[in-house]
Amino acid sequence: MGNKDFIQYGGYTELFGPEFEDKVLPLLVKRGYEPSEGYLTDVVELKERGLDIAVANIACGYYNPHTDQEYVNIQDVINCHALVKEIIEKLGHERHDHFPDWLSDFPDVPEILPHITSIGVCLDCESEVKVDEMFHPYCPKCNTYLSDSEYTEELPFDRVA
Ligand SMILES: [Zn+2]
Repeated sequence: MGNKDFIQYGGYTELFGPEFEDKVLPLLVKRGYEPSEGYLTDVVELKERGLDIAVANIACGYYNPHTDQEYVNIQDVINCHALVKEIIEKLGHERHDHFPDWLSDFPDVPEILPHITSIGVCLDCESEVKVDEMFHPYCPKCNTYLSDSEYTEELPFDRVA
């Protein structure tokens, strides 16, 4: 979302460390980006499954995500594309190892983590219900957002944050 976030901490997982940051920072500054925190999804999932290289989520010019008013700023997309191209040209031939210390770096982990914490059970398929970055509930198996009446908050097991 937006046009300036180069996400270093997503869902309270570190995505890249200071060595990679030092190398990429001049490119970020040139394009108006900065290292930041955010709840973003795909690459966080890869890190939490053990991916051992530096990664990042990069804002690519969309706004009002997951709403009826979502839109894309084409100039932002072009700027993001140029940044990614410059990162590949400068750093694409190097491997940047990164082994995060997972959640232990963060003493104040919230109770509900987007896309990770189960908040209930889908009444249609009985799969675990998660929330997105905007804390809207959805069922990953049914691949749909859910209203309050479409899931139960009763879990058949202890909630794990
Ligand atoms: Zn379902």
